[in-house]
Amino acid sequence: MKQPIRIVGQGMAGSMLAWHCERAGIEFELIDRGHATAASRVGVGLVSPLTGKRLAPTWRFSEWRDEVLTMYRELESELGLSLVREMRIRRFYRDAKQRELFESRIEKPEIAAWVDGLDDDGLWLKGALQVETGTLIAGLRKRWRQQGCLVEGVVPTDVEGAAIWCVGAERVPIRGIPWGPSRGELITGRLEGLEEDVVLNDGQWLLPQEDGRVRVGSTFDRDDLVSKCTDAGQSQLIAAAERLAGRPIQGATGDSGLRVTVPDGRPVVGWVDAARTQGVFAGFAAKGALWAPALARQWVVDGLDGAKLDPEVRLGRFFN
Ligand SMILES: Cc1cc2nc3c(=O)[nH]c(=O)nc-3n(C[C@H](O)[C@H](O)[C@H](O)COP(=O)(O)OP(=O)(O)OC[C@H]3O[C@@H](n4cnc5c(N)ncnc54)[C@H](O)[C@@H]3O)c2cc1C
Repeated sequence: MKQPIRIVGQGMAGSMLAWHCERAGIEFELIDRGHATAASRVGVGLVSPLTGKRLAPTWRFSEWRDEVLTMYRELESELGLSLVREMRIRRFYRDAKQRELFESRIEKPEIAAWVDGLDDDGLWLKGALQVETGTLIAGLRKRWRQQGCLVEGVVPTDVEGAAIWCVGAERVPIRGIPWGPSRGELITGRLEGLEEDVVLNDGQWLLPQEDGRVRVGSTFDRDDLVSKCTDAGQSQLIAAAERLAGRPIQGATGDSGLRVTVPDGRPVVGWVDAARTQGVFAGFAAKGALWAPALARQWVVDGLDGAKLDPEVRLGRFFN
């Protein structure tokens, strides 16, 4: 009898892989130690068409945005949870130099496609999504525990064994992948009266919730990977909230998590060995809400041999 696929870690990566296995009728076994440190619990699941100081197109956003929106809608109806919102982004210029840069960049068709207007203060971007990744992984965990296909426990990452490693910023037992973790802090507090479907962004973002709360993030620290929240990080975010909303945030509390990426900024996906005993599905940086469901579908859809995986994400690029 064929062994079930063994998936270690049930953040967005492990959840999306297991969900596509379930849909394809492939048996799986999930092992996860709990969501206390999961980036998917902390992150806010923003999926933006254009990001960063240079308004760069998000890799594969145009190709995958509608497909992942459909998947999240299906998950909403399966789990009876509210998981995804369509959003606009109000992207403010930091200064005159950035305004000049953005105005020159929107000449490019791949950037213009997502710009929905501009004025003296900034741009309006369309097409963004916000996914409640923490709610999603908690909902799937409950279902899979009830079905007996999720086991709570720690799989030692220094011991080799057949598995697909979906352990986020935790080191996987495969040498040669140049992981780069970073710690991100955010705050949650109250700021009433903002438009619920508009993300404010000037390099830091402010995400309104439907209940008068907002989430504001995030910091980026490659050196201190250990602290929970720092005074400097929390002050930076409280100041960002006031700058973006024009008034102070009330009752702010902080949280933090680790994201992980590799130097080319692409996820890391595929089998390590020809016998397909060890696999990796990680490196989702701050784009897990877009990349994890789309790449999990690609990996599972052809029976897990990986032949249809996007060449830019293949694990083999580190071993050539
Ligand atoms: C502050 C912050 C803001 C973010 N904002 C966004 C955003 O706006 N949009 C976006 O798309 N992404 C965002 N992200 C990134 C996003 O959260 C990640 O891309 C994604 O959630 C990573 O999912 P993952 O499954 O790879 O890792 P994780 O969510 O970390 O899941 C890993 C799981 O594996 C388990 N595990 C680890 N080791 C073991 C082991 N040895 N045995 C058993 N279980 C184990 C952990 O307990 C955990 O449950 C943000 C991240 C942070 C920190």
